[in-house]
Amino acid sequence: MSTHSTPSRRQLLHGALAAGSLGLTGYPDATFAQELAPTPQCHDGDPPTEPQTEGPFYKPRSPARADLTEPGAKARLVELSGYVLTRSCRPVPRVLVDLWHADEHGDYDNRTFRYRGHILTDAAGRYRFRTIEPALYPGRTRHYHAKVLATGRQLLTTQLYFPDEPMNARDGFFSRELLMRVANSGEAMSARFDFVLDLR
Ligand code: FE
Repeated sequence: MSTHSTPSRRQLLHGALAAGSLGLTGYPDATFAQELAPTPQCHDGDPPTEPQTEGPFYKPRSPARADLTEPGAKARLVELSGYVLTRSCRPVPRVLVDLWHADEHGDYDNRTFRYRGHILTDAAGRYRFRTIEPALYPGRTRHYHAKVLATGRQLLTTQLYFPDEPMNARDGFFSRELLMRVANSGEAMSARFDFVLDLR
């Protein structure tokens, strides 16, 4: 792979994302002005995103919402965004992205839907959540859980990981393929991950 090749389709998509075309609200502009490269680069015919176990805390029928933040939470804010793409790097519009994760104490809310929500990708295959950095819990490094679904069909279940997390080296689930690309700006973090579905 040459870094001097012409821009891939995903790089072009990345440009559109970096241009802030998603119309963010409620966040300091500086946070999302950061350029975050795609994760990983999409080339026609690449393998799909690695699936991982959903774990014991998935709850179906999460609320439709992009903002999972809770009043008074002390954790760092994270804006998680990216694309849902096919293996040939085509954006997948109107597909459901379901996100769930531990809170700032490392606990999952299994009674209600704190830190759980889903959105649909837009016409360009983009998704964007506003949430917090989850705390670690025993045995696991820091992670998000995500599913991509289309009209009741599960297309992908996986987990997303944070770079430079010391526990990554000691978590048997951790996969470098599932690292988000992150940029920090003061109290907030911008994180990027592109899901590649096993679709052409
Ligand atoms: Fe978990």
